[in-house]
Amino acid sequence: MKILVIEDEPKAAEYLRQGLSESGYTVEVAHNGIDGLHAAANGDHDLLVLDVMLPGIDGFAVLSALRTSRQTPVLMLTARGKTDDKLRGFELGADDYLVKPFQFPELLARVRALLKRGQPAGADPTLRVGDLEIDPVRHRATRGGQRIQLTAKEFALLSLLAQRSGEVLSRTQIASLVWDIHFDSDSNVVEVAVRRLRAKVDDPFADKLIHTVRGVGYVLDQRPGA
Ligand code: CA
Repeated sequence: MKILVIEDEPKAAEYLRQGLSESGYTVEVAHNGIDGLHAAANGDHDLLVLDVMLPGIDGFAVLSALRTSRQTPVLMLTARGKTDDKLRGFELGADDYLVKPFQFPELLARVRALLKRGQPAGADPTLRVGDLEIDPVRHRATRGGQRIQLTAKEFALLSLLAQRSGEVLSRTQIASLVWDIHFDSDSNVVEVAVRRLRAKVDDPFADKLIHTVRGVGYVLDQRPGA
């Protein structure tokens, strides 16, 4: 069983590496969010132990990006007294949660429980809607085989819409999941981004994939004859 630990504090990372190795697991350690996400998206880990506070991109961003392609079980670690973090972690797809500081046996029990639950692994991570293909690992999007150049935020937005194709997402949900902005009624960041995304993803093509649901939000799906 292979575990990826994403933790920037050297002492904590070493503590986890040593404890988990001694418990019979193969352990890989990443010391920041970017390396961690890369390792998680390209590896074949059975479980991730993911710290929330990381330099570069934090644990939430790692989890959110990872969930576009992988369902590897994730145990999140965070500082005491952050109940919002716990909710947010679960919302983004964390499987369990442990508050720091913890005793190693407690972590080990959670790890064992998650591994026991098991998860199908190795599915093709490519998201497909009509002729749109999104490869979350290589960070590429194409329509009809034609490469679409997107910024990181546009890619995140398109991935979110495609991942939940057919489901209407509100501006509030999108703002929170893509920008980490919690509702601000004056903000038109989502509208502006959707407009830019449409210019790249839909305008050059006959079939439109991004649809506005008036007063509600947006949905990405393929509409026959549209
Ligand atoms: Ca940390």
